[in-house]
Amino acid sequence: MLDSASKTAFHLLAQSTTLKKLSSRYGMRHPGSFARRFIAGETVAEAIEAARAVQARGLGLTLDYLGESVRSLAEADAATREYVAAVEAIAASGIERNISLKLTQLGLDVDKASAVDNLRKILERAEPAGFFVRIDMESSQYTEITLEVFETVWQQGHRAIGVVLQSALYRSEKDLQRINALGARIRLVKGAYKEPKAVAHQKKADVDAAYARMVSTLLVSGHYPAIATHDPAMIDLARRVAADHKIGTDKFEFQMLYGIRRDLQAALHADGYRVRVYIPFGREWFPYFMRRLGERPANVSFVLRGIFAEGG
Ligand SMILES: Cc1cc2nc3c(=O)[nH]c(=O)nc-3n(C[C@H](O)[C@H](O)[C@H](O)COP(=O)(O)OP(=O)(O)OC[C@H]3O[C@@H](n4cnc5c(N)ncnc54)[C@H](O)[C@@H]3O)c2cc1C
Repeated sequence: MLDSASKTAFHLLAQSTTLKKLSSRYGMRHPGSFARRFIAGETVAEAIEAARAVQARGLGLTLDYLGESVRSLAEADAATREYVAAVEAIAASGIERNISLKLTQLGLDVDKASAVDNLRKILERAEPAGFFVRIDMESSQYTEITLEVFETVWQQGHRAIGVVLQSALYRSEKDLQRINALGARIRLVKGAYKEPKAVAHQKKADVDAAYARMVSTLLVSGHYPAIATHDPAMIDLARRVAADHKIGTDKFEFQMLYGIRRDLQAALHADGYRVRVYIPFGREWFPYFMRRLGERPANVSFVLRGIFAEGG
């Protein structure tokens, strides 16, 4: 994870229209184009193909049809219909049935009730087909409302759903108790968004320390938690806590992002742990892609080389 200043720089860069234009033109053009390191493709068919390759390595998967921050109910409806079609294609393909989505993609910015309705439309198709649906966590302005929507659908009887908490936020340790009390599954991440000091730890060491505390609590008292990180120190800690408390490898899982630390994914699988890979796809890949660049400066030179190689 980068420090706060670097995250700010990337936050600004992500709004650069030139960069967006260049990336959109070259990023996914060919099988070897640079954005494909992190994004499985623009179509469901490409995502399913990538998912099959992940499954062939013995790993689990969750598919994320990228999209966020839609600004009108019409766009939210369209995104919901696309998501339902993706669910149907995934079900027909025979790959594992597990998806991740963002509520702003379903209209949370426009109207909470419509976002809940849209989420329910997806759940009504996905749950009977045996899908698990994870609601991703977005920036801190959406934390409370995301948890409220989650609680609403949980109370309506939907159980094949889980949510995400970010150790970067001060509030998350309390939220962990709140979601744990429901009996729901939590995916624990450090947090991908640039957040102000008023709500979030600014030093990596503090984010990591909170992550470590939350890993321990979740392993001991959570409900099939997902330890989503590429940080070897956090992974070692989770392994130690699980061993000390005799928590079986079927009681939790590690999760990592498509294209990141494949070596570590394979090593954990070889050691008998469950590993799930988060596979994003879709045309709206730019914001996701920029967050991945922001986490690691080395990724930027990789992208620049790609732009020059393809465009140059
Ligand atoms: C399955 C999954 C789902 C996620 N869902 C959400 C979500 O819903 N909301 C949210 O805010 N965040 C989410 N994230 C992102 C998360 O918050 C972090 O931003 C991201 O995982 C990087 O943090 P880290 O825990 O890997 O630790 P870091 O300390 O940032 O990184 C540890 C090591 O991992 C490697 N690494 C990390 N990031 C990269 C990268 N981009 N490129 C190459 N190597 C890298 C490097 O070797 C680095 O040294 C998710 C992450 C995963 C794995």
